[in-house]
Amino acid sequence: MEALFQEHVTELKERGLISTEHERFAELADKAAEEIYVNELDTYMKREVNVKAQFEVLKKYGLLGIHVPKQYAGLGGDAIALSLLFERLGQVGMGVVTGLDVQTCLTEAILQRWANEEQKKRYLVPEAKGDKFMSFCLTEPGEGSDPSSLQTTFEEKDGGFVINGEKYLITNGSIANAYIVFCRNKEKGISAIIVDKDDHVKKEAEIEEKLGLFTSDTTLLSFDNAFAPKENLIGNFGDGLKLAYTGLLTGRLGIAAGCVGVIEDCLNAAVSRSRERVQFGKEIGKHQLVQRRISVVEQQLGTASGAVERAAYWKKRYDDDPQNPDLRKTTDHNVTLAKVMATNAAWRAADNAIQLFGGSGYSILTPVGRHYIDIRASRIYEGSNDVLELKLASDLLGAGFQAYK
Ligand SMILES: Cc1cc2nc3c(=O)[nH]c(=O)nc-3n(C[C@H](O)[C@H](O)[C@H](O)COP(=O)(O)OP(=O)(O)OC[C@H]3O[C@@H](n4cnc5c(N)ncnc54)[C@H](O)[C@@H]3O)c2cc1C
Repeated sequence: MEALFQEHVTELKERGLISTEHERFAELADKAAEEIYVNELDTYMKREVNVKAQFEVLKKYGLLGIHVPKQYAGLGGDAIALSLLFERLGQVGMGVVTGLDVQTCLTEAILQRWANEEQKKRYLVPEAKGDKFMSFCLTEPGEGSDPSSLQTTFEEKDGGFVINGEKYLITNGSIANAYIVFCRNKEKGISAIIVDKDDHVKKEAEIEEKLGLFTSDTTLLSFDNAFAPKENLIGNFGDGLKLAYTGLLTGRLGIAAGCVGVIEDCLNAAVSRSRERVQFGKEIGKHQLVQRRISVVEQQLGTASGAVERAAYWKKRYDDDPQNPDLRKTTDHNVTLAKVMATNAAWRAADNAIQLFGGSGYSILTPVGRHYIDIRASRIYEGSNDVLELKLASDLLGAGFQAYK
């Protein structure tokens, strides 16, 4: 098990924060991460999408259903188990974290909380087993931070819904068998509808020009008179944004936990490099400013892991009592805080680690170079950090202070 992850798991156990079952999840996460790594590195160098291979390994260990109750074919893990999985995979890279987040956090979390039994049977169970992949289709070319302005439409027709519009930057859009599409209707408002893959859903483009996250699949999809039977409405008409929020709450925790793994890997690489590289007649780790940078990366690790630990604690409490409005508020605040703190900390940690590698770090051949370009997206997706910071401030200031609206 990668040393810093192992140390973290042991420390959490020592402090009584995790159980023997959590340790078992950590072992599974470790096995999967080891197996994914080799192939992931190879495909990253070729700048190829690698989600199917990643998911094959995760499926083998049941980890695509880590957070899904056992009655729906999941492993029944809680928010802490989820965080441990994402932390370990973050060491491999945010490419794995991003794809898994859409499957296990965004889409499964929505189905778990809001789908009816029939929908759970048709979509949640196969998702948890890894027999079905789903995408979360919220963003559009003309809409991102403000989903209330989305333009994709649905009309009621022939006992179902006809959906038209474009969805942009959709993770796992190429491999998905079904999509949770957020779309609007003049009378019914913004709603969440499951659309099965067919000829009316077209992949218009693979977003290949991304700065990083090469192994993750990011697509532009068009829904051109796509049909969904009326049974595919999740929850009630007009609930769309509420449902999207449920997914994002779990998703932001997964991303934040992935960032802890990124920082662990950066710290590990920075320490090794500073012990080996010799300049001015001594190992660079013997220069004071190099030591300071290592210390700063460790501080960044503390910032991120402390925030994730607290967020996972509240998320677990909220999952046990989802009708409790106070728990919802506290969880929302702490998960948002963790997402902002951990993504910012990981971005800075990767920058510090590259500095310690010098010119050779400015390359995707080094783990720090890969983390540096991959982590950038996490400060934008699942709520841009700028908007989330305003949200955090308005939580503290109270009603009437929502500067982002
Ligand atoms: C790799 C990747 C994968 C993604 N995967 C998915 C996916 O699977 N599904 C999906 O639906 N979406 C996905 N997205 C889209 C992502 O969620 C959006 O990019 C994000 O919500 C920001 O929206 P935007 O890009 O339209 O930026 P905009 O909303 O146009 O914002 C541009 C800038 O303005 C700032 N801004 C906007 N409004 C305010 C405000 N009120 N106050 C202060 N600042 C503001 C933002 O912070 C940002 O810096 C993905 C994005 C990336 C990069």
